Amino acid sequence: MKTLRRILLPLVGTLMLSASLVMSQTEITVIATTSILADVAQNVSGGLLNVESLLPFDADTHAYEPSVDDAARVAEADLLLVVGMDYEHFLGGLLETVGEDVPVAMISNGIEILPYGEHDHEGEEAEHEHEQAEPLGVLGDGLTCEDDHEHEAEATAEAEHEGEHDHGTCDPHVWMNPLNMMMWASNIAEAFAALDPAHADTYRDNALDYAAQIEALNLELSQMVAEIPEEQRVLITNHEFMAYFAAHYGFEIAATVLPGGTTGAEINPQELADVIALVQAEGVPAIFAEVSANPELAQLIASESGAAVVSTLYSESLSASAPTYLDFMRLNTRTIVDALR
Ligand SMILES: [Zn+2]
Repeated sequence: MKTLRRILLPLVGTLMLSASLVMSQTEITVIATTSILADVAQNVSGGLLNVESLLPFDADTHAYEPSVDDAARVAEADLLLVVGMDYEHFLGGLLETVGEDVPVAMISNGIEILPYGEHDHEGEEAEHEHEQAEPLGVLGDGLTCEDDHEHEAEATAEAEHEGEHDHGTCDPHVWMNPLNMMMWASNIAEAFAALDPAHADTYRDNALDYAAQIEALNLELSQMVAEIPEEQRVLITNHEFMAYFAAHYGFEIAATVLPGGTTGAEINPQELADVIALVQAEGVPAIFAEVSANPELAQLIASESGAAVVSTLYSESLSASAPTYLDFMRLNTRTIVDALR
């Protein structure tokens, strides 16, 4: 018995040690709300953490309704990464359900935020006013973009007037400018360093490596965009998500089919007629509809105005045809360049 114990005890010790090693390697679970965010986070994690996306490929974040399973996953997570600016509109209810002990990291802090534009749903007089909107400020540095309940009554009155507009004025689609992903990577590295200080340096190094890939991507996309003559760099998309791309690569957003930046917005017949008139007046060759959104309106406008409809832009999510953020940006830019050049 004595002998057996002498043999067993060191064995048990070894088993416990390796179990704790495994714990530190794989048992920290990070949930990122979208597949784009999860991909950037996986690059920063370098396999040290278990990083999962809450929403699946091809999901439309604006219309997403969390399941009971989603609530369970968030409740068990060690960290929740969010884009912020109320982009994850569904999260309010979800976090109420699972309690407030899940730490949440807002990873868009430090990024210069653009407002949703006032594109021409106003009629002919506004037709040629396409000035680029001034940035609202730097998120987290004097600028907050979360829902402000004090202004809710005001917002509701305005929403009745202009269609759904519950995002305030901040446009959360910051990932459409690749340079913003350097800030995401750096913020994610700091969140991971706080969660797992033993690997802090590795996370920061991984973020720098990823930033170098982003820089190369930016160069590649700039070269692709250069194939489109400047005066043809005009975008009309289904919902408003291309402002960061447009501002960075020199495109004009002539109109969006849906006002207000969410895929759930509605348009009245007069607004629809205005968009059709605008497409005809500008001679825009293509209207872009997003894969995750209903292309019906874009198709209607295209058929009325003689433009082509290209319904293969990806806006909120990765997909089988673009399984990484780098692929997502390459595929979108190639789609735009092929339609407009
Ligand atoms: Zn969107």
